[in-house]
Amino acid sequence: MPGPGKKKQGKVCRECHRVVDGGGCSVCGTANLSEDWSGYLVIIDPEHSDVAKKMNIKLAGRYALKVR
Ligand SMILES: [Zn+2]
Repeated sequence: MPGPGKKKQGKVCRECHRVVDGGGCSVCGTANLSEDWSGYLVIIDPEHSDVAKKMNIKLAGRYALKVR
C-alpha cells in the first residue's frame, strides 16, 4: 500500500529483520517489532543470495539491513 508521502517506513521484525505490514512478523510469529531501522533490502532469491545467507534469510521479501 502506498504511503501518504510522509517519512513513515513501517516496522521491521527485530528477530529476522523482515519488513512487516501488520502487527506481527509472519515468519517468526513475534510482535517484537522496531520502527528504528535503516537500509532497505529486497531478497528475491534467498537460496542464491549471499546477503540472504549472511543474514540467515530463508524467505523472499523485504528486509532491513540494520535494526535497533
Ligand atoms: Zn521475524
